[in-house]
Amino acid sequence: MSSEEIIVPEDAIIFCDELVKIYLSDELKVMALQGLDLTVKKGELMAIIGKSGSGKSTLLNMIGGLETPTTGHIFVNGKELSLLKEKDMVKYRKSEVGFVWQNSARNLFPYMKVVENVMTPMYFGRMSQKKRRERAMELLTKVGMDKHADKFPGQLSGGEQQRVGIAVALANSPSILLADEPTGAVDTKTSNMIFDVFRKLNRELGITIIIVTHDMRLANMVDRTVMISDGKISTEKIRRETLTDDAIAGFSTDREDETAHEEYSVLDKAHRIQLTDDVLERAGIDTNRVRVEVVDGKVIIQKE
Ligand code: ADP
Ligand code: MG
Repeated sequence: MSSEEIIVPEDAIIFCDELVKIYLSDELKVMALQGLDLTVKKGELMAIIGKSGSGKSTLLNMIGGLETPTTGHIFVNGKELSLLKEKDMVKYRKSEVGFVWQNSARNLFPYMKVVENVMTPMYFGRMSQKKRRERAMELLTKVGMDKHADKFPGQLSGGEQQRVGIAVALANSPSILLADEPTGAVDTKTSNMIFDVFRKLNRELGITIIIVTHDMRLANMVDRTVMISDGKISTEKIRRETLTDDAIAGFSTDREDETAHEEYSVLDKAHRIQLTDDVLERAGIDTNRVRVEVVDGKVIIQKE
């Protein structure tokens, strides 16, 4: 299909259409993404959750323009990434998306002060040194790190380094922030604090944020969570809007979890649905054949 025939939803900032990624390593073929569809609306705060090896980083790197799909299309802000010229791609990576990595060493230069770290990506633009420093201080204030501006990354805790990393990612005012396991290396309390920063930035700047994590509990902290398994989106959880932010702040128990979220399964273009291991187990389905019936307008899937 040529990209002219793909209709991108009007309110979508990111639109992934049937993404396939095949890695060839030695004689092995790994299909990291298997026809993945995803639409992200402008201003969303969402999480992508899935086991290790399910294709989360591959997807995020593709949205960030660091990898290209084997087949399929990605549109960001109405532009198809694979059609961008090299020069525009460089610009895209530097100023339309910001990356936060799990490993804070990847986000920060250890030999530069905190404020200089935040100023560095701005050298791509045409700002004066004074303006750059002012903007870096503004961003550090936003993430609550302005008091540490003159320290070196090594003098900060893991959580503080991550907050500086977020300020670095925001340096060129991207419209999308991509975070790959940003709380993977910190404790629960610090992880909550980092999520609070994301929520604040999302609310105050209206920036679209996608956070990749393997921590299912973090679903409580965002508007929408999509679950990726075997390179496809299987289910999605949407936070009910009737709940106040305070009611969902922090980690809740499993029961509260259910009241705060509605979980949906996702049908792909061929109307296929993926049943999670948990669902199969709860329904006692242990064979590869099931009985499907429609009863009173409901689809019942049960053990044959
Ligand atoms: P996740 O981030 O969910 O852990 P990844 O996107 O990193 O998953 O990887 C998905 C699959 O693709 C895994 O099986 C992984 O081993 C494989 N993979 C990822 N990157 C490469 C690569 N550069 N070369 C070969 N295989 C890769
Ligand atoms: Mg990963």
